Amino acid sequence: MSRAEFSKKTKREALKRSKMKCEAVGKMYGLERGQRCSSPLGFGVEFDHIVLDANSKDDSLENCAAVCIRCHRWKTAKHDIPMAAKTVRMQDKHLGIKSKGRGFQKPANTKFNWSTGRYERIDA
Ligand SMILES: [Zn+2]
Repeated sequence: MSRAEFSKKTKREALKRSKMKCEAVGKMYGLERGQRCSSPLGFGVEFDHIVLDANSKDDSLENCAAVCIRCHRWKTAKHDIPMAAKTVRMQDKHLGIKSKGRGFQKPANTKFNWSTGRYERIDA
């Protein structure tokens, strides 16, 4: 999946806004509701789309969070990937693509004959 990238300007602005502290907030990043991570970003910074860009092509500063690597990994694994999978499933459903049936189904109006090992028609 190709991801839209933030511009250098947006990243610079986000870093400035963050004051070099992780901007991740809340459950989406594995934190308590309303709690901010605030880890120093000096060890590495990732720029995260707050709203996943599969659903929104928003690369504005408002949708850009300067987060520490730990928070970014957490959100990618626990939030973005399940969300993206759900989006794909919903698109499939919308397009009428159904998931495969659950295994083998007995043909209608037949019964299994154990002596021949085959299904045989039941004559009504
Ligand atoms: Zn963090």
